[in-house]
Amino acid sequence: MSKAPETAIHVLIPAAGCGVRSGAGRPKQYLALAGKTVLRHTLEKFIQIQGVKSIRVIIDPAHADMYAQSVAGLDLPPPVPGAATRKQSVYNGLAALGEADENDIVLIHDAARPFVSAEAIHALLDAMQTAEAATLAAPIPDTLVHADYSAIDRNEVRAIQTPQAFRLNVLKRAHEAFKGDDSFTDDAGLVAAQGHKIFFVDGPRDNFKITTAEDIRMAERLFTAQMQTRTGFGYDVHAFDPAPADKIRLGGVDIPHGRKLLGHSDADVILHALTDALLGTIGEGDIGQLFPPSDMQWKNADSALFLAEAVRRVQACGGRIIHADITVIAEEPKIGPHRLGIQARIADLLGLPVNCIGIKATTSEGLGFTGRREGIVAQAVATVSLPNLSS
Ligand code: MG
Repeated sequence: MSKAPETAIHVLIPAAGCGVRSGAGRPKQYLALAGKTVLRHTLEKFIQIQGVKSIRVIIDPAHADMYAQSVAGLDLPPPVPGAATRKQSVYNGLAALGEADENDIVLIHDAARPFVSAEAIHALLDAMQTAEAATLAAPIPDTLVHADYSAIDRNEVRAIQTPQAFRLNVLKRAHEAFKGDDSFTDDAGLVAAQGHKIFFVDGPRDNFKITTAEDIRMAERLFTAQMQTRTGFGYDVHAFDPAPADKIRLGGVDIPHGRKLLGHSDADVILHALTDALLGTIGEGDIGQLFPPSDMQWKNADSALFLAEAVRRVQACGGRIIHADITVIAEEPKIGPHRLGIQARIADLLGLPVNCIGIKATTSEGLGFTGRREGIVAQAVATVSLPNLSS
């Protein structure tokens, strides 16, 4: 790709800070935005870069639980314990690269810069074909002045970003040389102080570091712009069992009734239609494919399990369920008295407020199989917000 193939790339993500300036109640790297934590968004950018040999995240051991939830399912080595300052934390990360070659490239990247692009990372790695040290740095378009309004030539200044890239030996020597000096706020500063030239690669302005509450709002808007809304439809029919019964399962609720529906599972026609609607939003087939009636383990199963699996799959795609709307077509039982109970149960299963769940019922005026009281139809529409999967 963009570098000599024999050069291994190691990524260090210092994430041990507590991010007090954001006022968000938890460290900003563990804030959930668009369905994932800021840290996970950041990590996923580096996981896809070819040539990356290792990614080490440096964390505050007190955040171990938040970290574990944040990176669940990602193939990463154990986190490195951080220290009192960012600089000392990076030093711990370098120590954890013990086996790495001196000429390997190490990238240092802020956990709270989730909008870094693969293009920017590749541009930085391209620069490292000839440089010992390079950083993303954004030109500043605004007019810059001192407080007395004397001018600062904006062509002479840059807003320093990350990632910053170094030959491992160069960065290690700089850290050793300035051990105990905590006046540096970034690694390129240390290396520059050792007399090395830092190569600047233009960084995109949206590669900003989430620091303040305003940054969080800006990040939410950017993530939202990367989301798409999808709608899925589900339809199901179950016939009434001719044998007498004392209750029928509809929408996850047992309703006292003299007849129940026939089916391999609990025959909950509402939850089946809703499960299909959710699967439709992510193009993952239908309930019959995932839970075949031929499989004995689903005999008399609670259909809430099927719905939970569809919810899990939507979430695994980074999706968030927004709304579900359901119409039941039945002459019996009367849904009206149970509407609020079904609404509350489905809201609970989807993790949504009740006003995000529509439950409507109608008869078919005596027409057709529903009109002849041979069975019940349920239709469902689900709306989800998803990362742009097509891009
Ligand atoms: Mg069914």
